[in-house]
Amino acid sequence: EYSIGVDIGGTKVAIALVSAEGEVIEKSIIPTDLSIKPFEMIKRIIAKVEVILHNSPLSIVDLKGIGIGAPGPLDSKLGVITCPPNLRNWVNIPIVEQIKNHFLIPVLLENDANAAALAEKRFGAGKENSNFAYVTISTGIGAGFIVDNQILSGSYGNAGEIGHTVIDPSFGKCSCGQYGCLEFIASGTAIAKKGSEIAGVVLSTKQVFDLYKEGHPKITPFIETVFRTLGVACVSIINSFDPEKIVIGGGVSKVGTPLFDALTDYVSKFALSPAGRETKIVPAELNQNAGVVGAASLCF
Ligand code: ADP
Ligand code: ZN
Repeated sequence: EYSIGVDIGGTKVAIALVSAEGEVIEKSIIPTDLSIKPFEMIKRIIAKVEVILHNSPLSIVDLKGIGIGAPGPLDSKLGVITCPPNLRNWVNIPIVEQIKNHFLIPVLLENDANAAALAEKRFGAGKENSNFAYVTISTGIGAGFIVDNQILSGSYGNAGEIGHTVIDPSFGKCSCGQYGCLEFIASGTAIAKKGSEIAGVVLSTKQVFDLYKEGHPKITPFIETVFRTLGVACVSIINSFDPEKIVIGGGVSKVGTPLFDALTDYVSKFALSPAGRETKIVPAELNQNAGVVGAASLCF
């Protein structure tokens, strides 16, 4: 069995033909062009799907469907992308209907972090778990919760937006209007911005972590604050959802051991239940392809 996964991001759209075993057979990437109308962008996606099918031995009737992962907010049941901050002009776009009208096969839409969580459940770090949380620390911070083997969607498909839970209002104003949101303090974007301010030079997120690893006197306490903030988020997840593990993905998770050790340590001290204090914090396994594989697996 096969399906097409479409992963729509603020900078690029990845489109892939994926098998029910999670294997990516063929993949293409097109830039997200926010200067054109969303419908024009959807036409480009449709054209790319046709090219991928043309280059494969399959035709449209061999597909279980097309799964789409997109940034929220969205309405997964109506198949509408509502108003995502990273896709500025995509306001109330009925993407499912537009793609379904073209290909006449099932088309499904989910929040991108929820789709990635599903990919980790089917093929990655959550294969053996019925209950786990997937957290992506990237440009922003999002999460997807697998509860009793299923994605927790919520009423519109927007469950898991933990990036906008307030951790410490003494930090500044987030794009959502609240003060001190998790992603305002601890996303890759926030770390690069604040780290650059502290160091007095423009640094990438990775460069900020390199200074931390060298023991930079001002960056070190800052990164410790970031780790503690992410630890607080993990404890809140554990106390709310009682997961077997927390899987961490996204560019910032490439920092590796220092991040995972800090989170494991924080959780071991502050999660409420004795079992919660032992929750494993582990890296995602599908990093590169989690988006398209998760989107495609919505159809299986
Ligand atoms: P996206 O947000 O587009 O899904 P990523 O998951 O790759 O993309 O996350 C991008 C973020 O991760 C950026 O803030 C980037 O600076 C950061 N990042 C990428 N690689 C590293 C690294 N090795 N160490 C720390 N941060 C990184
Ligand atoms: Zn916010």
